[in-house]
Amino acid sequence: MPGISYSDKVALITGAGSGIGRTTAQAFAAAGAKVVVSDIVPVGGEVTVEQIRAEGGEAIFVAADVADEASVRNLVARAIGEYGRLDCAFNNAGISEGNLPGQEWDTEIFMRSFDVNTKGVFLCMKYEIEHMLAQGHGAIVNAASVAGMVSYGAFAYTASKHAVVGLTRTAAVQYSARGIRVNCVCPGAIRTPMVQTAIDQGFGSVIEAMHPIGRIGEPIEVAEAVLWLCSDHASFVTGHPLAVDGGALAR
Ligand code: NAD
Repeated sequence: MPGISYSDKVALITGAGSGIGRTTAQAFAAAGAKVVVSDIVPVGGEVTVEQIRAEGGEAIFVAADVADEASVRNLVARAIGEYGRLDCAFNNAGISEGNLPGQEWDTEIFMRSFDVNTKGVFLCMKYEIEHMLAQGHGAIVNAASVAGMVSYGAFAYTASKHAVVGLTRTAAVQYSARGIRVNCVCPGAIRTPMVQTAIDQGFGSVIEAMHPIGRIGEPIEVAEAVLWLCSDHASFVTGHPLAVDGGALAR
């Protein structure tokens, strides 16, 4: 990203084996960061690392399930063990399951969205903040969604992403005076495997029409927002849910 350098910085990204997470990991690496690529699916994360190294960047892969506390504790410890510091974290791993009317929801499926999307962000922040407090600085961006600001139909996804906005604001209030800024991004529909199924089912034009800009977003458009939020260019920005949504929330 022009004008923003991450030389000598370390960035950790969860869910970096696909979609927005992969593109953001590549963007951090291209800007000079050492990148800790994490995902629950090793093959995707390893491909991301290979792609970064092929471009001359620096990255390692650490497998982690963000819904599992021991796994997240190990992830952050491995990042510190490898690079000795943690400047930026993009807590991006997320799932989108089910689009049924509320009374038809299976409770276990409902709770699984909270385990990954909400508890995952909580656990990542818990261990990242511990290290960032010790080093005296840090910048965290969480992956929320336009569904974190308004209802987007799906019960569990919408509720779990609203909770991410709440976690972000609360962490920002608690830690900003101690050198840690915490923000979240609220993407509209972005061209990744998460929305590809809906596009393949013929809903592409419906999804496009949700965005006044008239198209679906690209992963790099979210990545650039994350890099800006993590940088000193955003030094007075904290607790903010940043819409990257082609105007969807402006309706
Ligand atoms: P994606 O499905 O392409 O990638 C998500 C990645 O998260 C995958 O690699 C997956 O293996 C990983 N993951 C899933 N569960 C995990 C777990 N328990 N632990 C660790 N990793 C796990 O999705 P994407 O579209 O790139 O979405 C990334 C984030 O952005 C998600 O939080 C999603 O909710 C959010 N988001 C996406 C869109 C969109 O339109 N694509 C819109 C708004 C918000």
